[in-house]
Amino acid sequence: MKYFRFDSGFDELPYLLYADQSGRIIEHPYLRMAGLSGKMPVIPDDLLPMPEYSKLFFLPDCPPLGIDPENGELEVVTEMEDGDGKTGPCFAVAAFPEPGFVRTLLPAAIYDRKNYTLPMWAYTAVGYRDGKYWIAAFRVEDNPKWDPRNYDDKLLLPSIKSFTKIHRGPLTRHLVQCATVNHCFAAKNLFLRRWEAPIPVSRKCNASCLGCLSLQPHDSCEASHSRIGFRPSADEIVSIAVEHLERAPEAMVSFGQGCEGEPLTEDGLIAESIRKIRLRTAMGSINLNTNGGYTDRLRTVIKSGLDSVRISLNSARPELYCAYYRPRGYGFSNVVDSIKAAVDAGIFTMINYLVFPGITDQPEEVEALKGLIVRTGIDFVHLKNLCIDPELYLRSMAVAEEKGIGMAALADLLKNEFPRLEIGYFNKRLSGRA
Ligand code: SF4
Repeated sequence: MKYFRFDSGFDELPYLLYADQSGRIIEHPYLRMAGLSGKMPVIPDDLLPMPEYSKLFFLPDCPPLGIDPENGELEVVTEMEDGDGKTGPCFAVAAFPEPGFVRTLLPAAIYDRKNYTLPMWAYTAVGYRDGKYWIAAFRVEDNPKWDPRNYDDKLLLPSIKSFTKIHRGPLTRHLVQCATVNHCFAAKNLFLRRWEAPIPVSRKCNASCLGCLSLQPHDSCEASHSRIGFRPSADEIVSIAVEHLERAPEAMVSFGQGCEGEPLTEDGLIAESIRKIRLRTAMGSINLNTNGGYTDRLRTVIKSGLDSVRISLNSARPELYCAYYRPRGYGFSNVVDSIKAAVDAGIFTMINYLVFPGITDQPEEVEALKGLIVRTGIDFVHLKNLCIDPELYLRSMAVAEEKGIGMAALADLLKNEFPRLEIGYFNKRLSGRA
């Protein structure tokens, strides 16, 4: 993939984008794009053409910041010509990169003038030049199984029809909603009978993450997924999972989804289901995505036959972890114990590291992450963009403003210092499985 590299005059940088009040996106006549690393304005140096399946957003009431190419000064742009040629308020523009790309900079904007919470997306700096949008991101994993080009809905509806001739229970109906309304790729895989499929089970959680996708307080934004509202039966889980594991190529089923709470609040149901699945088939892998707060429950589920686990955390620093997860009845040390318990049990252990430019790449965080990797022996680190309003996250993280080493530099450092560690973006199916 061709990268844009900024290494001389500001004239080379892509142009600032702004939106008018009706959301029309317009290229600024002369100001250039900037980015933010945390709260710090930064001149973007590595950019890539926006991947085709990315999205563009505008951020109402957030004036953009642009760089004057004459003198390199940063300007706040509050008014511009709109799409009809009239002068009016203008707003910052952001990109949401396709899956597999890690953002390196936030959109440069003034966020504290708005009086609402932005919906949970990974807002990324974007500019325009030579007929292309350019975004501040790098590709960390190129995986055809999660490529949006492989999710053609023309195939989906007939697949749902044939699937629902056999499976008619409430979990199936919930997953039809996930596939057709929320456009969850994992749910689509279930009906397309391939790869990783989801098994959501839990209505409750032991945390209150600032960026929870399935539950937000009334004074925040709308949650992007509706949380499952019932407890599926073990029989339905087993029947869906066994068929998927036996029929789908490179099959995996995962407990712990965006449309549920913490799956280990239903540890008994999961353990019973896994035992019954494994009595009927040895094929495919069974994975659990969890916040890792319940170490003993995780051990029980591992003993029932779990193959891999992915434990989520936004930071390897306990105070930042607690400020984001707001855990109830557990703490960061329990999460570390869970990672260690999984590694010790010999199952494939991943962390879902929710990354944010300017916080994740701070030297103190990098040291804390390295310590966690050494202490636990994790197999795989997902560098997953944290989807959240940048202003809400920065306000909630009590950290000194410290220049980050850069998100791409963080990925390089992990590759160099931990050659056995895998770095990626998607759950990995165990290759030893049929
Ligand atoms: S752990 Fe998951 S379900 Fe629980 S609050 Fe956090 S994001 Fe939501």
